[in-house]
Amino acid sequence: MSSSLPPVPAAATPADRLVALTRLHHALEDCRRCPAMFGPSVHSATLISPVMLVGQAPGTREIEQGLPFCWTAGKTLFRWLGSIGMDEPVCRERLLISAVCRCFPGKNPKGGDRVPDGEEIVRCAEWWRGELALLRPRLIIPVGKLAIAQLMDFKRLNEVVGQQWRYRDPAGWEADMIPLPHSSGASTWFKMEPGKTLLAEALALIEAHPAWRALRADHSLVVK
Ligand code: SF4
Repeated sequence: MSSSLPPVPAAATPADRLVALTRLHHALEDCRRCPAMFGPSVHSATLISPVMLVGQAPGTREIEQGLPFCWTAGKTLFRWLGSIGMDEPVCRERLLISAVCRCFPGKNPKGGDRVPDGEEIVRCAEWWRGELALLRPRLIIPVGKLAIAQLMDFKRLNEVVGQQWRYRDPAGWEADMIPLPHSSGASTWFKMEPGKTLLAEALALIEAHPAWRALRADHSLVVK
């Protein structure tokens, strides 16, 4: 799907990018393209950060509160990130928290939340890809299989978690990518071996990454 938002030149200043991101978030708030999805759509604070996190899709609580990762999956995720130096309030102020889909997909009859279908993923890609293009982050943290699959080919979490990868954008810029497993209570992968060890290795890689270290030490790297 082509974007309805005007492209931002590569040389745009952080202030210009922030203006464009504000416009993108306003347009996202009005999006009602998916008949099977439940809104309103959710986005994080509007800010330009060197680190961008990409989750799967909000749940009911996130929709009610208009805040990504505000319930059980968020508690686990922010506990992980807090263990490497940025707790929930700091993460919310310094990271752009995006997602593959921005509305609640509804419940799966077999339990848990429905995984967005292919058409919904394509429709909603405008928003997270737009955020990615505006941020040009130095570090991308995809959380969970669905988010990782938008950025790289893989079959099993064991192959990709615990390692650092290179993202090459079609526009010519590059970023590091360190995947995490999904932090929802429905996942048991990170509670058992080898998931437990691979998660610890992934967190250690994020903690050592220059963009994470710089952001942790200096909040002025965020433009908002
Ligand atoms: S899931 Fe995404 S594309 Fe679909 S209605 Fe919500 S914001 Fe729009």
